Amino acid sequence: MRSVTRRYLRGGQPVNALDDVSLEIPQGRFVAVMGRSGSGKTTFLQCAAGLDRPTSGTVRIGNTDLGSLSEAALTRLRRDRIGFVFQSLNLVPSLTVRENVTLPLLLGGERPDSPQAVERAMRVLESVGLADRADDSPLHLSGGQQQRVAIARALVTDPAVIFADEPTGALDPSTANDVFTLLRRAVDDTGHTVVMVTHDPVAASWADEAVFLAKGRIVTNMVRPQTADVVQVMAELGGC
Ligand code: ADP
Ligand code: MG
Repeated sequence: MRSVTRRYLRGGQPVNALDDVSLEIPQGRFVAVMGRSGSGKTTFLQCAAGLDRPTSGTVRIGNTDLGSLSEAALTRLRRDRIGFVFQSLNLVPSLTVRENVTLPLLLGGERPDSPQAVERAMRVLESVGLADRADDSPLHLSGGQQQRVAIARALVTDPAVIFADEPTGALDPSTANDVFTLLRRAVDDTGHTVVMVTHDPVAASWADEAVFLAKGRIVTNMVRPQTADVVQVMAELGGC
């Protein structure tokens, strides 16, 4: 991202939810974007992932300048090169676990019941430890298991980048650790890039780097963040 600003109007007044943010994330890095509520984390993620367009500045993924793309091309790029994991799980309850995982392939024009699609889905379900639940409804899974399905779905297209917004916000700490372990493994074993927005200092300790936002600006970054150091910076920024 280079000099990215995203301005909203609030009560007629312009507010920079992101204010001149520049950041380069190398491929294969796990980055946590931290900051208290309202600091601009979700706006950052949406601009970085091509879900929202900045007011000014440029966003590139690889060699592609997202600002140069039509809506249709941007939709294709999100579908083919980006995986998303959100706090709310967005699984489709009427589909099986495996069908949920094959959804991004279906959107890409592949038949969800093709042997390749089924094999890919089973491979990613295996990697998150849920191959035996493939034919179940997501409604029969715990919150943590459902989030693992969401990660499998994000991985199924083998995306360049996985963007996660507060992926463990609704989970208890030990279940959250399972989710961080999977994201960490996606980086270490398969070279994915992970950008995770969170206000949780423990979550940040799983990342290679933590970037801190306050009032839409990057105020600090930290390499190999340790929970205690992250807690201290967050306290200086006025809590979570
Ligand atoms: P975070 O995810 O860190 O809690 P957000 O990126 O959601 O922060 O919000 C950053 C700031 O931008 C907040 O002040 C928020 O009120 C404002 N904001 C976010 N989205 C909109 C919107 N669609 N319209 C107006 N203001 C917004
Ligand atoms: Mg947010």
